[in-house]
Amino acid sequence: MPDAPTGQPKVDANAAIRLVNTKWINKGNCPTCGQDTLGVGDELFEVKVVKPPGLLIPERAMHLFAFVCSNCGNTIFVHKKVVEDAEGT
Ligand SMILES: [Zn+2]
Repeated sequence: MPDAPTGQPKVDANAAIRLVNTKWINKGNCPTCGQDTLGVGDELFEVKVVKPPGLLIPERAMHLFAFVCSNCGNTIFVHKKVVEDAEGT
């Protein structure tokens, strides 16, 4: 995978897949339907902290990989920091 453009967070979906295949008890199968139909893209999703209600705190946000089941639509987010820690990066 080529390096991300300058200023963009590096995204390694393969690292997220390695984490799922080693840490999840079902080895990456969808926990809802049981099929081997989970997929992840090279995009990150951001969840921002809102505190107090209505006030965004931009420096407090989670960057997440989204695993989507193409069979049942179940979507599971995996935290980028945990993936990086598992890779030792
Ligand atoms: Zn499913």
